[in-house]
Amino acid sequence: MTSAPTHPVDNLHAIRRELKAALIEARRETADVVITAVSKTHDASHILPVLEAGHRVFGENRVQEAMEKWPPLRASFPDLELHLIGPLQTNKASAAVAFFDVIETVDRPKLARVLGAEMAKQDKYPALYIQINTGEEEQKAGITPCEADAFIAQCRTEYGLTIEGLMCIPPAGDDPAPHFALLAKIAARNGISQLSMGMSGDYLIAAQMGATHLRIGSAIFGAR
Ligand SMILES: *Cc1c(COP(=O)(O)O)cnc(C)c1O
Repeated sequence: MTSAPTHPVDNLHAIRRELKAALIEARRETADVVITAVSKTHDASHILPVLEAGHRVFGENRVQEAMEKWPPLRASFPDLELHLIGPLQTNKASAAVAFFDVIETVDRPKLARVLGAEMAKQDKYPALYIQINTGEEEQKAGITPCEADAFIAQCRTEYGLTIEGLMCIPPAGDDPAPHFALLAKIAARNGISQLSMGMSGDYLIAAQMGATHLRIGSAIFGAR
């Protein structure tokens, strides 16, 4: 993207234009696909213009960083929606429930259990997505595809959770399309409607394959 504009708001507008064209081609509605602007490592001064331009959905990968950065922004823009897209330790589950609107990285039974207990305790219910390790990578978080159905069922019956979405991060260097297709298939057979997939390098493919949430960082805010 050598000729891309460099201001986050210009970048976001350019992404929206490309996305709209891709969605028309895929016969999908623009309104059905949300851009989650991934603002990790970028400070409030970079985020503010994007908020002022009307964007409201953001992603952060660390609880601590988000809690330091977002309270003043949220005071000015109370309708914004914050997604946790990074790994969550159980000792931060309480803070995550209190702070985030969506937790996209439910990836193990213990975390699911602790989140369920915290949500009941706080009477606050962020939307929960399960992270699926579609590439079955040793070093990556997430439930393996063959364990997904059982884990989703366990979350629902044992922990009383409503699972609203699935998310995945395909292996670097792989063709992402089969991973997006697999995530969509697991979601469909489990009656799950939200699909968080696609990042700066592959969001158009993800959008054409049914993503409801695109997690876009560097294409909006620049390199980290
Ligand atoms: C950083 C991050 C993104 C955004 O990546 P870009 O390539 O900068 O768009 C998306 N998802 C997760 C889980 C991330 O940690």
